[in-house]
Amino acid sequence: MSEVRGYSTKVRSHGVVVVGGGIAGVSVAAELARDGPVVLVEGEDELAKHTTGRSAASYIPGHGAPPARALVAASRARFDALADEAGHPFLRPRPVLHVAHDEDEERTLREEMLPLAAVTELTPDGAVARWPALRRDLLRAAAVVEDAQDADPLGLHQHYRRALRARGGEIRTGAPVTVIARHGESWRVGLGDDHLDTDTLVLAAGAWTDRLLALAGAAPVGLRPLRRTIAIVRVPEGAPVRRDDPFVVSAGERWYAKPEGEHLLVSPSEETPAEPGDPRPDELDVARALEHVNAVTTLGLRSVATSWTGLRTFAPDRSLVIGDRPEHRGLHLFAGQGGSGIETAPAAAALAAAVIRGAAPPTDVLAALADQGTTLDALLATRLGAATGPR
Ligand SMILES: Cc1cc2nc3c(=O)[nH]c(=O)nc-3n(C[C@H](O)[C@H](O)[C@H](O)COP(=O)(O)OP(=O)(O)OC[C@H]3O[C@@H](n4cnc5c(N)ncnc54)[C@H](O)[C@@H]3O)c2cc1C
Repeated sequence: MSEVRGYSTKVRSHGVVVVGGGIAGVSVAAELARDGPVVLVEGEDELAKHTTGRSAASYIPGHGAPPARALVAASRARFDALADEAGHPFLRPRPVLHVAHDEDEERTLREEMLPLAAVTELTPDGAVARWPALRRDLLRAAAVVEDAQDADPLGLHQHYRRALRARGGEIRTGAPVTVIARHGESWRVGLGDDHLDTDTLVLAAGAWTDRLLALAGAAPVGLRPLRRTIAIVRVPEGAPVRRDDPFVVSAGERWYAKPEGEHLLVSPSEETPAEPGDPRPDELDVARALEHVNAVTTLGLRSVATSWTGLRTFAPDRSLVIGDRPEHRGLHLFAGQGGSGIETAPAAAALAAAVIRGAAPPTDVLAALADQGTTLDALLATRLGAATGPR
């Protein structure tokens, strides 16, 4: 780690500096701005250009590893509170239908999903009644999460952005962080010709977070960006698809499908390792999504209206990564949101802000963690150890 010298601009001491303008960055910045000045720094000219703008926009109780599941649960009431603030909802009901088409999927459904409180078994006939496009003859087992919702990721992002500004926060776009160095007791964050000095630096840069840790001379978390593709497909005339159909997910996470306006949103649910960046869809992944859905339905999907790919970024244990590394005072992480960065945002941001400020963690989050049989330690960055190398 080196000291930065020779900057021509005047040295300014800022409040908290948050790097990354996706949902992680804006949500934690808005929470931190309740207590003091915050500057949010985003490398792109616009916010939410990467993973946050590319999700499937769902909120699913019971989704993810236990710590994420707890944050999903604790976010529910917080989504409602945010809706009251904004004057419009960020969630709309859309049950999730889990379907099993072979022995492995049926085992997963019975052993991993049905024990969850949010998940209820359905008969195959019951599942077909919920989604008439399914072929009854191929279906082995099914379950439903009645309380699942469609989320509004960009609306939520915009709400946090507004809240950040209203609380006096500053947002800088087109400002990629290129240097992070110790400057006395502070961190100096280099932005091309300019820089910011801060005692509290929060890295909330999704797939890029390990690269920023490397800039700071800190050990990486071992974050793994994994590609996932979504295609929006035209529904053939006369096909049994309704706008209020459920979000249908294969129990083995091989595909999913849900209505998107008059079209259908489908994904092959792939998890292909990738470098941080701006991935584009691979035609084979798009074709695979259609193939999977066509194999178990009567839909005969053929025509793709548009498609995109995003990076879901996971820590080695698939839990979010919140808080500091004690050996790098003032350097904090809010990363590893994986496939749950939207559905966990309200609770995760409140928790992260409390941990970063050294305040008591929100009691609703602690209660939700206990309900899931887990603890705060499962989320704290310190669990990853100081000497963790690349994995
Ligand atoms: C196909 C798909 C489906 C998904 N479905 C769901 C879902 O249904 N529900 C759900 O909850 N989640 C879902 N997710 C996951 C969710 O979208 C992510 O967890 C979330 O968007 C991650 O947000 P983020 O802010 O961490 O990352 P990002 O949105 O990627 O933001 C990181 C930001 O950091 C910036 N940055 C990087 N390096 C620098 C630098 N050096 N200087 C300045 N800025 C920098 C980047 O430009 C970027 O804007 C899905 C994801 C995908 C890809």
